[in-house]
Amino acid sequence: MRITAAVTAELVAHAREEAPNECCGLLLERAGEIVAGVRARNAHASPSRYLVHPEDHFGAIRRARREGLTLAGAYHSHPRSPAQPSATDVAEAHDPELLYVIVALNDGSGWRVPDLRAWRLAKGSARAVLLSITP
Ligand SMILES: [Zn+2]
Repeated sequence: MRITAAVTAELVAHAREEAPNECCGLLLERAGEIVAGVRARNAHASPSRYLVHPEDHFGAIRRARREGLTLAGAYHSHPRSPAQPSATDVAEAHDPELLYVIVALNDGSGWRVPDLRAWRLAKGSARAVLLSITP
């Protein structure tokens, strides 16, 4: 899956603004490229979990229809942990077709930050998906 540099920057900016809580939102795609990140409220307002507010979820679907885009998936941030799905992320993922992008901000343990990783989550397991950033 491709993602534009502008969307990547927007996701990182959103993650930083919401820290120490997790941010979340939806990702809109055209022809295999994520071209928009739509911010959503985190209904849990928590530093360790997220729930895309249902109104914002529907809003993103409406925007996708309006603009001829497809809902590709969701993103959220991990303010203090790596860009790997938590056990809760895996347990709560309900759609194997959706892409789950995680933005990690933690700079305490030597890995590259900010770090963006994409996953498909299904049946209790996580599979990494290559994200290539396009101009
Ligand atoms: Zn998570």
